[in-house]
Amino acid sequence: MVRYGMPTTDPDNSQGTQETLRRAFGFDEFRPHQREIVEAILAGRDVFAAMPTGGGKSLCYQLPSLRLSGLSVVVSPLIALMQDQVDGALANGLDAAFLNSSLDPVAAREVWHRVASGGVRLLYVSPERLAMDAFREHLRGTAVSLFAIDEAHCISEWGHEFRPDYRSLSILRAEFPGTPIAAFTATATPMVQDDVIRLLRLRSPLAIRGDFDRREIFYRVRRKERVNDQILAFVRSHPGQPGIVYRATRRASEETTAKLVSNGISAAVYHAGLTDRERRENQARFVRDEIRIIVATIAFGMGIDKSNVRWIIHGDLPRSIEAYYQETGRAGRDGDPAEAMLFYGPQDIMTIRYHIDRMESGTESERAMRNLQEMIRYADSGVCRRVQLLAHFAQEHAGDCGGCDVCEGEVAMSDQTIPAQMAMSAMVRTGERFGAHHIVDIVTGETSERVRRLGHDRLPTFGVGSEHDRRWWVRLVQDLEGAGLVRRRDGAKSGLVITNAGKTVLTGTERFRTADRPEQPAPRVKATESALDPQAQRLFERLRTLRTKLARERGVPPYVIFSDRTLRIMASARPHDGTTLLDVPGVGEHKARAYGADFLEEIRSSGS
Ligand code: ADP
Ligand code: ZN
Repeated sequence: MVRYGMPTTDPDNSQGTQETLRRAFGFDEFRPHQREIVEAILAGRDVFAAMPTGGGKSLCYQLPSLRLSGLSVVVSPLIALMQDQVDGALANGLDAAFLNSSLDPVAAREVWHRVASGGVRLLYVSPERLAMDAFREHLRGTAVSLFAIDEAHCISEWGHEFRPDYRSLSILRAEFPGTPIAAFTATATPMVQDDVIRLLRLRSPLAIRGDFDRREIFYRVRRKERVNDQILAFVRSHPGQPGIVYRATRRASEETTAKLVSNGISAAVYHAGLTDRERRENQARFVRDEIRIIVATIAFGMGIDKSNVRWIIHGDLPRSIEAYYQETGRAGRDGDPAEAMLFYGPQDIMTIRYHIDRMESGTESERAMRNLQEMIRYADSGVCRRVQLLAHFAQEHAGDCGGCDVCEGEVAMSDQTIPAQMAMSAMVRTGERFGAHHIVDIVTGETSERVRRLGHDRLPTFGVGSEHDRRWWVRLVQDLEGAGLVRRRDGAKSGLVITNAGKTVLTGTERFRTADRPEQPAPRVKATESALDPQAQRLFERLRTLRTKLARERGVPPYVIFSDRTLRIMASARPHDGTTLLDVPGVGEHKARAYGADFLEEIRSSGS
């Protein structure tokens, strides 16, 4: 293997790597792929790693930064979160700092000073900063051992979060030919992966595609009826759990927030209409467990490292599977069970279509249309949700996942071939020129003025479907459209035509099934909550209170101290001294030194 860069430690010294993992981070085992990536970086090799949210990407560059002689530079678009990322690294005893536009010149100079004197080993920077010639000039005067590019999919136009400022990262290879580049993302499809590797000019990188299956997340889709009531009911059936609600528009997010707050639930809103300060504040309060629920438009959550988010609700159909998976991936990062709930109704399709119809670029609207079709199929097809989600990331799953509403038998399917044929033959007999409402008038036998004027009340299909009401039929026609059996000729207002897939159902070659959805989910018993006996549960609450207090004193988010998972294990294991404390996953030497005494004291004083 060709070696680039300037490794200073023996990369084959995996003993040392394991030791660093234990000492600095308090973990005994690497998560899948972490060791491989760390060792490649230490050997000076480029890396492309697509790993799911919560897969443990930050450790892949933080650990090497402890063992490389020079500076490790982390590029991240998440300026608002850099402080938190740095706090997290500092809590593990890493010499970390950040540079971005939020720092005033004096503070920035001070950081540079520390970098130059070797006091900073891990430097987070924004892509804008890296695009500045003077900044890179400075960097060239420093020994840079690694560039880690976080959220690397942002460089690709094919990704769902393209950031033009990421394009400037293409310069790095030419200007720092000897420095390895490691690119990380939680969301790349194979096409985006190729793009990232090409644009960053990675040299035969170690390419990792992690296991995208988030087994801890249970996926559900429900028919949207009165969505704010449905959201409230869901929230009430998950008492105390932190969660994120995504809504498509500002107005919808305001309405949902108002609904929750007026019912005594702690929630705050997050959208582009707020000032930067309001947004930062709401986000920070959510991360610190001061508010339980954030109701957000898509702008929220990228890179949020809050490990105890227990559920994600989508109150509207997301625009793509990729965005949806990224958003649901913000739940359950601590590995404990979590839920993703999507409320979806045919009106969502109309709304997204409306936006697509107004897009200027043809390729853009085509891509958006494909994304929408995929999303509808996901919500409507009655196929294991996990199989569909993973297929999107080129990962196969055998199905029967045990973690989605389809596999758990919550989604009753019924054969609607005959009604589908009735509706489609009404379309054929009227020249495929009419929309859903007129077609429904015909099959239900509604003698509207237009039906009479056009003589459609004399068609053989007139009134054949009178056993179902209008609403039922409108939904069926929408389902036909969702399943791609019929489509609009052109534009939102035109008539419905039958597609090739539709013809196979019309002639009886294929059958048409739709999902019948119950109105509300049965509340799920939380395995983790009930796993603690009452005494351990009480101690867990006390440890959480202590964590909140320590976090306040130090001005850091609580998870930076210990995760919920760590506290839960601590509450049942009840360590009594430094050694037993270090056995608790998530407790490294640095954290044990910083907080150990406080937590041990709390455990001791909680009695036997
Ligand atoms: P990502 O950036 O991939 O979304 P993070 O780097 O934020 O994920 O890691 C997610 C969580 O997993 C963090 O709480 C982190 O401390 C934890 N973690 C990372 N590596 C390990 C490991 N080897 N063992 C246990 N927990 C880990
Ligand atoms: Zn399934």
